[in-house]
Amino acid sequence: MATANIDQEMEPALNQNEELLGITPSRRSPHGGVSRKRKADRSSWKQSVRKIQRQSGKAYKNTKGEQMPKRSIVALKSCRNCKFKCSTNISEIERQIIFDNFWTLDDDGKKHFYSKTTENLEKKRCRTAAGDNSRRKTSYYYSFFVSNTQYRVCKSYYLSTLNISSHRMFYFHKFNKSLTTGTPLQSKSGKHVKKRLLEESKQVVRDHINLFPRSDAHYSRKKTHKEYMEGSLNIGRMYDLYKIYCDENVSPPAKEHMYRYIFNHEFNIEFQKPKKDLCDTCYEYRNIVNASNEQTDSYNKHIKSRNDTKIEREKDRQNVDSKTAIVCIDLENVLNLPRANVGNFYYK
Ligand SMILES: [Zn+2]
Ligand SMILES: [Zn+2]
Repeated sequence: MATANIDQEMEPALNQNEELLGITPSRRSPHGGVSRKRKADRSSWKQSVRKIQRQSGKAYKNTKGEQMPKRSIVALKSCRNCKFKCSTNISEIERQIIFDNFWTLDDDGKKHFYSKTTENLEKKRCRTAAGDNSRRKTSYYYSFFVSNTQYRVCKSYYLSTLNISSHRMFYFHKFNKSLTTGTPLQSKSGKHVKKRLLEESKQVVRDHINLFPRSDAHYSRKKTHKEYMEGSLNIGRMYDLYKIYCDENVSPPAKEHMYRYIFNHEFNIEFQKPKKDLCDTCYEYRNIVNASNEQTDSYNKHIKSRNDTKIEREKDRQNVDSKTAIVCIDLENVLNLPRANVGNFYYK
C-alpha cells in the first residue's frame, strides 16, 4: 500500500489560510492561534544541518554518528612525470580555487561539474585475436577549466584536487547521466508526481477532518480561532476512522504522523474534555473568561444546591432501615445516544 511522505513538505512557510488571515510566523502562537502547534523550523533540523555540512565538505557527523572530517585538497604524490603535465598547466593556487569552488556546489551542482569535466567514452575497438567479440571497454577522461582553457589531467590529479573517490565518478557516469545527452539526470526526477500525490493525499486528510462536526468556543469571550470536537474523539481514533474512510474510497492512507501533522498545524481543534462530573452549568461556567457577578452568583447557587443534594444523598445512604427503599434519579444527566466507534456516528 502506498503511503505519502511528508518529509519534503514540512517547510515553515505560511499556508494559504494564514496568508488570508494575515498571520505571520512571529504572530503564530500555539494557543489561540490558527493551529494547535507551532511549525518546525526545518533548517535547524539535524538532518538538514548534516546535509549542508556534507555537501560543502565541512566536518559533520554521519547518520551512524561517526565523525566525518572536513575535506581539504590532497597533496599530490606523483604528477611530475605525468604525460598531461597537470601540475605544470595548473598552479597550486588555481588548484585550490578549483577545490574551493567545487565544494560550494550542492549535490546537483557537483553532478553538473562532473558532466563538464569528465567523460566516460568507449575505447576505440582494437582488433585483437578475439576479434570484435571482446567486451567493450570504456575509458575515463578528466579535465579542469582554468580561465576558459580546458586542461586534460590525469585521474589521480583530478581526484586528489577535489578530494573525492573514483567511486563517485563511476556512480555518476553509470547512474546519474543521460546516455543520450551526457548531461546529469534530474536527481529529483518524479518529484513533481510525488509532490502532486502528496498534495492529493493531504487533501484527503483535510477532507476527512472536516467531516467531523466542530463547535466554536462560544463560551469564551476571548477572541480565539479554537474550535471543539466531541470529547470521546482523539487523533488516534480519528486516524483509525480515516483508514476505514480511505479503504472505502480506495485511496491510499497517509501515515499517522502526517495525519497528526495536518491536524495539529492546519487546524486549531481541541477535544472537549469528557464531562464526567461536570454538568452543563459547571462546564459552561468553567469556560467563561472574566465571569460577571451575575454569572458567579448563579454558579455559586448551583454549587450550593449540588452540595445540598450530596449531603441529602449521603444521609439517604446512611439509612439502614431495611424497610425503606430510596430511589435516586439524576434528571439533569443527559446522555448522547447512540455512541459507537463507527464513523457515521461521528461525521456530520
Ligand atoms: Zn597528472
Ligand atoms: Zn454543576
